[in-house]
Amino acid sequence: MYYNWKETTNTEELKIVCNLIKNGEIVIFPTETVYGIGANAFDKKAVGKIFMAKGRPSDNPLIVHIADKRMIAEIAKEITEVEQKLIDHFMPGPFTLILKKTDKIPNIVSAGLETVAIRMPDNVIARGIITFSGVPIAAPSANISGKPSGTNLNDIRKELEGKVSAVVDGGETEIGLESTVVKVIDEVPCILRPGKVTLEEIKKVIGQADFGNGIFTPVDEDEEIETPGVKHKHYAPNVAAKLIYSENEDDLLFEINQEIKACRGDVVVLGFDEHKEKIVVAEHRFINLGSKHNLEEIAKNIFSALRKSDELGGKLILIEGVKKEGLGVAIMNRLLRSCSYNYVEL
Ligand code: AMP
Ligand code: MG
Repeated sequence: MYYNWKETTNTEELKIVCNLIKNGEIVIFPTETVYGIGANAFDKKAVGKIFMAKGRPSDNPLIVHIADKRMIAEIAKEITEVEQKLIDHFMPGPFTLILKKTDKIPNIVSAGLETVAIRMPDNVIARGIITFSGVPIAAPSANISGKPSGTNLNDIRKELEGKVSAVVDGGETEIGLESTVVKVIDEVPCILRPGKVTLEEIKKVIGQADFGNGIFTPVDEDEEIETPGVKHKHYAPNVAAKLIYSENEDDLLFEINQEIKACRGDVVVLGFDEHKEKIVVAEHRFINLGSKHNLEEIAKNIFSALRKSDELGGKLILIEGVKKEGLGVAIMNRLLRSCSYNYVEL
């Protein structure tokens, strides 16, 4: 069933959706980051349906979503002072914390790890569904595994309609990139996946913070890493993609136009508003990511733009990069992965 809650949440329909969750079904719903496919985190059979629907590898654990910090005690244990500080500061919000799990969390959720990822979304619809279901909700992003995360229902329905019991439409997601995933290692917060909450913001609260492996470079299959998700192919369109960045705008535009020429125009460009007139490609083959000065806008548009570029097809997708700082870290992490690290910095 499709429910439109773009304007307001319908309470009768909310009851129906929450009953589906309670009865072990899976539901697509919005959060402030991206859409999720959710199930009762305590019900391993229900969680299994998520892995089936997405075709998600069973070694990639799910994030458990809560609506109230009191829910944490049921899911996680032995919370340290640093972890508590992070919870106090960044929840609710686009922030996920890896904690030691209790036995109540089935192994399928944590992919056999001793830890569990917890997030408290800051979105009325997500909070309503979790609260009235009365259970924490395990939810990965709403997309077929390996594809860009779903940020609006147009994209999501094409991919997942018929595979879930209900779809809740809350309009375009506010942030458009998945949450920052953090694990505290030896009292230092380590960012395993960058997101809206930046390294600088975490440093302000805790005093120190680091990036984990695999943020800007691929990790080997046999390399030991803290987060399984880093290993898997992600955000990838079907057509080959190349990411280009330079602080020098002339160099950047020259390189992009050379690439376009080499492919005889059979490319799609994901570029910035300011460069629309300077990039020599057919108008319908230029996908506007927004202003180069507005990282929030770019973050919001990335996944939808990658899907659109796939539909247009061609020899190559050319993507303009941003500086790797602040929110630019998360943007570049997703773009690098979407083009399988085919990256040129001039
Ligand atoms: P998604 O649900 O698609 O947003 O992806 C969730 C991300 O969190 C993936 O990169 C997972 O590997 C990561 N994750 C979830 N649970 C854990 C955990 N217990 N330890 C480390 N990483 C985790
Ligand atoms: Mg995902």
